[in-house]
Amino acid sequence: MKNNSFEEIGNIIRKAEKILLFPHINMDGDTLGSCAALCRALRNLGKECYILIEDHIPANLAFLDRGYCTSDQNIVEKPDLSICIDCGDADRFIRRKEKFQQSPITICIDHHGTTEFYCDYNYVDSKAAATGELIFKLLRAMDLPLDREMGGAIFAAITTDTGNFQYSNTSKETHEITAALYDTGIDSNEISVELYENNRIEKLLIKNRALNTLTTVCDGQGVIAYVTQEMLTETGALMDETEGVVEELRSISNVEVAAFLKEAEADKIKVSMRSKYKVNVADIAYSLGGGGHERAAGFTLYCSLTEAFDMITEKMTDSLGKL
Ligand code: 5GP
Ligand code: MN
Repeated sequence: MKNNSFEEIGNIIRKAEKILLFPHINMDGDTLGSCAALCRALRNLGKECYILIEDHIPANLAFLDRGYCTSDQNIVEKPDLSICIDCGDADRFIRRKEKFQQSPITICIDHHGTTEFYCDYNYVDSKAAATGELIFKLLRAMDLPLDREMGGAIFAAITTDTGNFQYSNTSKETHEITAALYDTGIDSNEISVELYENNRIEKLLIKNRALNTLTTVCDGQGVIAYVTQEMLTETGALMDETEGVVEELRSISNVEVAAFLKEAEADKIKVSMRSKYKVNVADIAYSLGGGGHERAAGFTLYCSLTEAFDMITEKMTDSLGKL
């Protein structure tokens, strides 16, 4: 599996007129910020470009969508090009897969180590902290200058995927790219307030409830918590407002691995895993049909919450036992 070059990918993009961008489901700042920056750059080039989505945009990311996002799959009848961004596999845009394949040419730009090359052109760099870094490099390779809005969108992508420059994926290059973003005139504080200080009270209420379910395994080296639909109803929170809980779990002293179980619906449990130093959660996720990074990965289990809980307890105990 070899990456295509940004030059090659840039040439393909230049030839296309109608382009659809595909962020992954359960959108995060990286997937949407990356799509927004690229969409704006391509519209500036005169392309008919949209970000095609299938679920709702979390409130703290809504500022990134300046008329780019649509759920209307017929917005472009016959796209020339589909680009999936920050998506490790096609199941991450499951209800748009057919539309994605409708384009004669497909491109994948991603930074997940578990990603298999499933498009005609691929650029997958697991060393990149965020797909936003790759979009920055692509735009530079295409000689497309960044304006303040694109700079802000890429800043949002990078700050969210690095836990505000805190996670192990943060590199010198992450900071170099971020530094270059300031030249576009971004106000990093303004973007950070949009992203991190724009929470509904319900978000704090659901975090409180979820943290109350906390259970430890292996003398506190592992920690598991969950959220149910009932808890969401009772607090009035949305599932995406549980974002950040799994990082709170990992933040506990001596915790090496954390799992957060989200009851998406009965018998459909979305699991988020994080580790601090050693446990490769991407391997665990991959073995269960998901994927991600060594320190942050996810997957979906089709069973009851109790069954999922038991299974994760066993996986955690196993992986901690091998250390
Ligand atoms: P989160 O736990 O925040 O949903 O995701 C953590 C990381 O794992 C992200 O990089 C995300 O893209 C990836 N990830 C989460 N769920 C899945 C999944 O079901 N399949 C794949 N391939 N990657 C996932
Ligand atoms: Mn990402």
